[in-house]
Amino acid sequence: MKRIFLLTLTVLFFTACNNQEKKKTEEASMTAEMEQPEMMDEATSENFIDITPIEHATMVLQWDDTVLYVDPVGGAAAFEGQAEPDMILVTDIHGDHMNAETLQAVLTENTTLIAPQAVADKLPKELQDKVQVINNGESAMHSDIAIEAIPMYNLREEAKKFHAKGRGNGYILEKDGKRVYISGDTEDIPEMRNLTDIDIAFVCMNLPYTMPVDKAAEAVLDFKPTVVYPYHYRGTEGLSDVNKFKDLVNKGDESITVSQLDWYPNRQ
Ligand code: ZN
Repeated sequence: MKRIFLLTLTVLFFTACNNQEKKKTEEASMTAEMEQPEMMDEATSENFIDITPIEHATMVLQWDDTVLYVDPVGGAAAFEGQAEPDMILVTDIHGDHMNAETLQAVLTENTTLIAPQAVADKLPKELQDKVQVINNGESAMHSDIAIEAIPMYNLREEAKKFHAKGRGNGYILEKDGKRVYISGDTEDIPEMRNLTDIDIAFVCMNLPYTMPVDKAAEAVLDFKPTVVYPYHYRGTEGLSDVNKFKDLVNKGDESITVSQLDWYPNRQ
């Protein structure tokens, strides 16, 4: 009897070990899968807006029935096949954010164009008549979406010439308690680090114009958006290391989803 009992124990022990091994192998293969480089939107559960990256800082967002173009540049061709914009947001005066020809090509009679004063001042007269100016700290409302302009600027002494505080706008869009942050061209300014309740954040990271990936990661770990999309990451030395950004963010807080989209579809 004792023998049978021992035998049973031995069999149970080996079965348990075997299962343990199987589990380990499964875990290993899952990890291998997760480490594959991905260029896809991982944030499926948080997708209350559709995001179409056009290039660099330029994107089309659809929030319910409202279509927003952010920093439309690249001419009409860049927006072929896209729905007409209900709203256009321009962040700053530089050519990768503001282009009068593109604005003229994509604007319709029903489009609201929102931009800071510095952008309005550089637009041709017919566009100046259409632009609704909001500057840092000011807000607008359109299609049930509240739009708040927040600062975007450089902190590093050698980079201050790129973006002076007060000229350009970062934007926070809010509807039904959901908040989307578009950084514009900025460093890890306190106005970013102190943001709260951001569901989706678009954060720039390129040198020398904005900030390095480690500063972007630090700032993101401070304001803890649910999902962050690195965007505007082409600098004079090529594309920033967005995989390093993702590693730094997730090392600090694995609950933040870092979602990689293809912001440079035309790169060689
Ligand atoms: Zn830029």
